[in-house]
Amino acid sequence: QSDRQTYVIANWKMNKNLNETAEFFQKINSSQDVSVVICPPAQLLYPAHLMIKQSGKPIGLGGQNVHWADKGAYTGESSGSMLRDIGCEYVIIGHSERRQYSYEDDELVNKKVLHAIKSELTPIICIGETLGQKNALQTEQVLEKQLCGALKDIDSSNFILAYEPVWAIGTGQSATAELAGQTHAYIRSILKKIIGEKAEGISILYGGSANESNAADFSAMPDIDGVLVGGASLNAQSFDGIINVFA
Ligand code: PEP
Repeated sequence: QSDRQTYVIANWKMNKNLNETAEFFQKINSSQDVSVVICPPAQLLYPAHLMIKQSGKPIGLGGQNVHWADKGAYTGESSGSMLRDIGCEYVIIGHSERRQYSYEDDELVNKKVLHAIKSELTPIICIGETLGQKNALQTEQVLEKQLCGALKDIDSSNFILAYEPVWAIGTGQSATAELAGQTHAYIRSILKKIIGEKAEGISILYGGSANESNAADFSAMPDIDGVLVGGASLNAQSFDGIINVFA
């Protein structure tokens, strides 16, 4: 196995209130042997930070989105330093739901990644093909374009990649571990062309209907360094089950 860091990351999307968040952090066991990161909605970040601190559990905190500017007239947005200030170390960038519903393209993703790195946040950069692109056999070219776009002018290796096939997100139809494993190896080969040998040290997570039952298959693949979990991260017991597989 590689020296790469293994991550189990929760993307709560637009779910949970304060009480449910407190209940989650009480119930979750977490683990020292894997990096566990929770990405709650923006309004819950600071309370989540306090709850994690109080629990003493080794859990990292991440935003689900960040703006690209340091400050200014951008109503409704948050900067990297604001996320840092309330205890975040990570931020998800380029999630397919933001590409779809908020029209984020590779250029905007790149600006956000540059800003996150400058703000000393670790970006969790999401890439993935749609079902139409998969059926048209365009997966490799889509991933290469998204990856090159996201990493333009980046001279840091402080980032995490998440391969999230759009057809697998929230559908219950995860990619097979074999397909995900092959695709991760392809992503690493493209990454090597962009950042050279440092690509070997970059963690590439799988995302898309990962759960307690299929996590072991993903963890067995050499190029899969953890999972980004949506639906199955909302329940502390299910999420703990996934953490235990990777720990
Ligand atoms: C996600 O949206 O990042 C995700 C992986 O969702 P789900 O696990 O629900 O497919």
